[in-house]
Formats: sequence, structure tokens, C-alpha cells
Amino acid sequence: MDKKLLDILVCPLCKGKLEYNENDSELVCNFDKLAYPIRDDIPVMLEEEARSLLVAD
Ligand SMILES: [Zn+2]
Repeated sequence: MDKKLLDILVCPLCKGKLEYNENDSELVCNFDKLAYPIRDDIPVMLEEEARSLLVAD
């Protein structure tokens, strides 16, 4: 994913900065404990698509 894109992307919930998890191709919000998926290099910034990091897989 384009690293420049990461600079302008924020969490849609808290508007906080996101962390790029390269292994899982996810954008992580450490404030909400949510991971937004990246599909075909496109970050899916939707709360309903996000994975909760608080729940065990
Ligand atoms: Zn957030």
C-alpha cells in the first residue's frame, strides 16, 4: 500500500492516526482497537468491515 496514503488516512470513528499492519494487510486503530482491512490495495474504512482486536479469533 502507498505509504503516503497512510499519512492522510484516519480512523472514521475517532479520527485518530492508523497503524499499518503489513502482515495482515490491515490498518489498525489503537484507540478503538479496530483493524480495517485492505483489499486490492484499497483500505476499507468502514466500521462494519473492521475487525475488533478485543475479541479473540
Ligand atoms: Zn479509531
